[in-house]
Amino acid sequence: MKPPARAPRQKMPEQSAEERVKNFREVPYGYPPETAKIEAARCLQCKTAPCRQGCPVEVRIPEFIRKIREGDFAEANRIIKGDNALPAVCGRVCPQEDQCEKLCVLAKKGESVAIGRLERFAADYGLAQAPETPPPAAPTGRRVAVVGAGPAGLTCAGDLARLGHEVTIFEAFHAPGGVLVYGIPEFRLPKAIVQAEVDALKRAGVKIELNAVIGKVETIDELLAEGFDAVFIGTGAGLPNFMGIPGENLGGVYSANEYLTRSNLMKAYRFPDFDTPIIRSRRVAVVGGGNVAMDAARTALRLGAEEVRLVYRRSREEMPARIEEIHHAEEEGVRFELLTNPIEILGDDQGRTRGMRCLRMKLGEPDASGRRRPVPMPGSEFEVELDTVIIAIGNTPNPLIPSTTPDLKVGSHGTIVADKETGLTSKARVFAGGDIVTGAATVIEAMGAGKRAARAIHAQLMGG
Ligand code: FAD
Ligand code: SF4
Ligand code: SF4
Repeated sequence: MKPPARAPRQKMPEQSAEERVKNFREVPYGYPPETAKIEAARCLQCKTAPCRQGCPVEVRIPEFIRKIREGDFAEANRIIKGDNALPAVCGRVCPQEDQCEKLCVLAKKGESVAIGRLERFAADYGLAQAPETPPPAAPTGRRVAVVGAGPAGLTCAGDLARLGHEVTIFEAFHAPGGVLVYGIPEFRLPKAIVQAEVDALKRAGVKIELNAVIGKVETIDELLAEGFDAVFIGTGAGLPNFMGIPGENLGGVYSANEYLTRSNLMKAYRFPDFDTPIIRSRRVAVVGGGNVAMDAARTALRLGAEEVRLVYRRSREEMPARIEEIHHAEEEGVRFELLTNPIEILGDDQGRTRGMRCLRMKLGEPDASGRRRPVPMPGSEFEVELDTVIIAIGNTPNPLIPSTTPDLKVGSHGTIVADKETGLTSKARVFAGGDIVTGAATVIEAMGAGKRAARAIHAQLMGG
């Protein structure tokens, strides 16, 4: 079929809001092959490929899109995999509108090529085929320890294994994937996809040791002393921030991290088949306006809450969440309580949450972040009845590794100081990348850091 000359950006079919709010299945179904070809035909195959500059790992975007247009889906997947070890993940969760798609020339004229959706299509096609086993690299005899099996650690490990180094990942949790498995819910990123990508890394020779908290079972210095030639730290930013208001210790108050980990990784939504209980809420408030807040609010709805409010102290324009996530949350019935700031969580005589006291805000002058500062409106105090409060106002790195590793320079927010290009820290043979260096960022940025560090570690190990 010859695609129309100027087709509009192709929509992805998805579950209706009424249906999906009752289950944890993925919301969009992905493009069927004919739709993918029509979308691919919209690409102008620009020689300078500005879209590539928007991608932190510089996926060869026009090349893979051309292969989709020609119907060679396997080759499209192979091209993407050359730069991106987790394309089925990135095609789903990258904030494409701020990255590759933002720089697409068609974005200036209206609608960019749906690069993320096409990447997802090619990657899913690849996952559905018999897995390709990469040719084994000649062993270098060098050993690298990677701490943390999130996107940064997995990418660094995969690249080093392909170069012939012996790589062992040490992961604190009982499952690899980092935020991809404990944070991002099943309905946005099915865990089977993360597992398939992890399996591909294992076939490439990466060893993974689970339930291994570095800093407790062994320190970074001990890893180096026992024969690892280099260490990469990709331990993320998993320590939740709290507001510091009265009532945060009451029953029914969760950090978004705990709430999502219980639901995603510990499968609390399948209780009692899985033995992690989670509160059955009626009225929930999620505090925050980012992707994490949207994920928590949408999870609470799926866990059966009757009413879910999202309490955010600025206006919709300042919300850091992806537009698509805001749209999905609203469609599913999350109520947005904007320009509102909690000042106290209220408890009953059993120590359980019964409500929250809030203030209305207005926007003042821009602050250091460039966003307009929320200013309280005098006399605007009000109370809402609730049984659950989920706090999603950001995360910082866990101090365990810095506190057990002498000579490791740490920045003002607990991040590890590392060179941008190489990931080298202040300590010889120790590299770091991802959220532990940048603070909470994105999956593909963490992967980009893992990739750059792998290149630098390889150069160092091979005497470069
Ligand atoms: P992580 O993914 O945090 O992985 C770190 C790993 O290290 C974890 O598995 C942890 O258990 C392990 N670890 C920690 N300490 C130790 C230790 N001492 N010893 C051994 N192992 C340790 N980004 C997007 O691009 N798109 C999104 O849609 C998106 N949604 C998000 C939703 C949520 C709920 C959250 C929390 C984040 C989201 N992000 C999103 C951000 C993104 O997931 C992170 O930026 C990314 O995962 C960072 O990767 P990382 O490898 O640096 O760290
Ligand atoms: Fe775009 Fe992310 Fe794919 Fe890069 S990895 S091309 S930013 S969707
Ligand atoms: Fe295609 Fe847009 Fe990239 Fe041009 S900028 S090659 S149209 S995706």
